[in-house]
Amino acid sequence: LSRRLEVFSESVIRRMTRIANAHGAVNLSQGFPDFDPPEELKRALVNTAEGSIHQYAVTWGAPNFREALAVKQSKLLGIPINPDTEIVVTCGSTEAMMAAMMTVCNPGDKVIVFSPFYENYAADAILSGAEPIYVALKPPSFGFDADELEAAFRQKPKALILCNPSNPTGKVFSREELLIIAGLAEKYDTFVITDEVYEHIVYEPFEHTYFASLPGMFERTLSCSSLSKTYSITGWRLGYLIAPAAIAEGARKIHDFLTVGAAAPLQEAAVTALHFPESYYTDLTRLYSEKRNLFLDGLESLGLKYTVPQGAYYVMVDISEFGASDDVSFCEWMAREVGVAAVPGSSFFREPISHLIRFHFAKRQETLHDALNRLELLR
Ligand code: GLN
Repeated sequence: LSRRLEVFSESVIRRMTRIANAHGAVNLSQGFPDFDPPEELKRALVNTAEGSIHQYAVTWGAPNFREALAVKQSKLLGIPINPDTEIVVTCGSTEAMMAAMMTVCNPGDKVIVFSPFYENYAADAILSGAEPIYVALKPPSFGFDADELEAAFRQKPKALILCNPSNPTGKVFSREELLIIAGLAEKYDTFVITDEVYEHIVYEPFEHTYFASLPGMFERTLSCSSLSKTYSITGWRLGYLIAPAAIAEGARKIHDFLTVGAAAPLQEAAVTALHFPESYYTDLTRLYSEKRNLFLDGLESLGLKYTVPQGAYYVMVDISEFGASDDVSFCEWMAREVGVAAVPGSSFFREPISHLIRFHFAKRQETLHDALNRLELLR
């Protein structure tokens, strides 16, 4: 078998989901909602199923999907996005990130990855032949050291991967931090590949700044995102990449040979979501703020230490006080004996850190209450 396989292991997130299922644990490991998407969206899918869009869409995305997406994202970025040349619709942002990496990297190129990081990025780098350079986001606040970052840039990386709002830390990069990254990207002529799937899940008073919206950055940014988290449709596998035409054209080639295209009927149905009014997004933020508050209050009354997430739907909890030998066995034990599954923090860190675990709270209130009741066993 290929040597590539030796360099990374299977997804720990998905492994924890299997362990959760095997033990009937509440699954707060793999981040996806246990509630349905809006009714209107489900109805759109039913209507589409009864219609006649059942063959391939245009490989880089159905025109009406790209048009609706361009309108929505142009408004958010404050930059007009051309639906005909600057968008590639992909099978989730997972494919968008992979295609982005393969579009800009040659084998042997270096790519900056902040650590902790969503586990796909290292695998994406390796699959595209690139080598990750890690820059630490230091707990508990998960800030970076600008000098360390510049030292990484001095190694002449081809790209930097930016997950904002960030999985697993819940960090929302401030405009100032992003401007530091932008300055370095400019100085060292580096691409920036963003993963902004939590763009609409940001808690007050924090605000999401699209990296591509910063002065001069659109030209060097491959913005990846998806509909999964925003519309609670992780199984639809609809994502996209937005980049200047010359880059998007390259990404279209890669995407075509990787997957031909995202599911045509699902793109058709999802146009309904892309047309949702402004209020949909404020309601979404409110919904997740309630979940976050409920879960953090619960952790607080259990006396657990955690970093307050500014965005996304994850929280990192410090397990030092439990004296476990490592976070992996702690998570396995917790799934089995306490009945709640989380992800061991070490699967996100490059550094040897084993005192943090990640919970997600994209769950119905009763699921969160159930999890918190079970977590009482930790006391
Ligand atoms: N992004 C989610 C997480 O980090 C789900 C990952 C996945 O399995 N695709 O948990």
